[in-house]
Amino acid sequence: STPPRFRKAGYQAIDRICDYYYSLQEISVMSKVEPGYLRKHIPMDAPEEGEDFQVIADDYQKFIVPGLTHWQHPSFFAYFPTACTFEGILGDLYASSTCNPGFNWLASPACTELEAIVMDWAANLLGLSSAFKNSSGVGGGSIQTTASDSALITVVAARSMYQRNHRDVKMEELVIYTTTQTHSLGAKAGIVLGLQVRSIDVLAEDQYSLRGHALRNALEEDKKLGRKPFILIATVGTTSSGAVDNLPEIREIAKEQPDLWIHVDAAWAGVALSCDETRESLHLKEINAFAHSFCTNFHKWGLVNFDCSALWVRDRKYLTDALDITPAFLRTKQGDAGTVIDYRNWHLGLGRRFRSLKMWFVLRGFGAEGFRKYIRRCIDLNQTFAQLVRDSEVLSLVTEPSLALTVFRVAPKLESEDQPSLSMESLNEINSIFFGRISARSDIMLTQTNLNGIFCIRLAVGAARTTEKHIQDAYATIEKEAKATIETWQT
Ligand code: PLP
Repeated sequence: STPPRFRKAGYQAIDRICDYYYSLQEISVMSKVEPGYLRKHIPMDAPEEGEDFQVIADDYQKFIVPGLTHWQHPSFFAYFPTACTFEGILGDLYASSTCNPGFNWLASPACTELEAIVMDWAANLLGLSSAFKNSSGVGGGSIQTTASDSALITVVAARSMYQRNHRDVKMEELVIYTTTQTHSLGAKAGIVLGLQVRSIDVLAEDQYSLRGHALRNALEEDKKLGRKPFILIATVGTTSSGAVDNLPEIREIAKEQPDLWIHVDAAWAGVALSCDETRESLHLKEINAFAHSFCTNFHKWGLVNFDCSALWVRDRKYLTDALDITPAFLRTKQGDAGTVIDYRNWHLGLGRRFRSLKMWFVLRGFGAEGFRKYIRRCIDLNQTFAQLVRDSEVLSLVTEPSLALTVFRVAPKLESEDQPSLSMESLNEINSIFFGRISARSDIMLTQTNLNGIFCIRLAVGAARTTEKHIQDAYATIEKEAKATIETWQT
């Protein structure tokens, strides 16, 4: 196509995107289409002749929009919402326009340099130690696609560190440590790398957080069996309930385990470190003192549109030792001299998207204060919801609310002390029916989870347009469905 046609189509696209955001409140969160719907509208082959922008854009409205789940809808409370911003969209648009897979410094100096700078900005915003910054020359940060990619390459780096000190270790002896609440990224890394994964049990009475003694027991058991744990994937803000592993206790044990790499997966909660008041409970001091790597997704709760997973390592050489393969065609004067970062050695692919641009737009557009304000607003809104649950006759909290996440279930209050309480099976059955009712609605979206056998529901605040009214409305809907569930269950 030509610039004039692009200009026209581009203006229209921006207009339509704005209209989409204006209309979000009026439409359902969830799509109503059935599996396979799109096949009925889209031919089996790409067209032989090129088509006009206008036709394609109209088909986007007609066929694609109805099949969207509206993650930016203010009543989207499922998974962890992904707050997308116009700042991020614009940054991504420019990135798309340059289309530079800046794998080496030379492949596009600005791509590498901006990423190195913006990751240092983000480290400052979150209060990370300067050891993690690119400017340290030893540690450093890079933007990965997802937290799963971040964990995968961290495991590769950790294995490389372990092998340096134990040259004769056999692959089948190596073990990745996770807990039963770690995101599936731990298990996936094990599958991809062909390594064993141990998932340590965590308890409800510890709020599903990994305790030091549980880690110590696992280490002792594995030592007897000749297994070699080489990385612990600890979590700050688990997916199911926002649990925070007990890093102060883990630190004490890690002191005796110099070969155990500690990766902190804070994919969702990590951005809350931008606020002083959360730093203690999220164990920033320990992260700074002893974590080998730390990951948080700016594409979850950090206002940057997908994808933008920020990964920092304390020592970049383990990453580059493990991942640096330099055929002749990738050699450059600057790379050979070691005066630049070649980010291709910090991730899985060769090419990489110019993701720092959208992060730069967002951090500048909001400013640190604007960023913190948004995080605090989400936490406050969640507190409002959690309080409504606490006061409810039919709902109760399963765990204490964590930042912007509440985990709750239907649990009718007993009418008198003599009334027998419901068994776990009955409560699970009630909650499964309740969740079925909630899922059948298209005006609100929540997700279910299971905590050590307890069927529960999660409500996560994060969409940039959610206000107190949406929380109150969500609560009213949830309470109504909970009451209806109890009534039907009793009859
Ligand atoms: N880690 C945690 C704690 C998560 O909650 C999630 C997703 O919700 C992930 C990792 C996975 O993130 P990604 O999709 O970036 O791999």
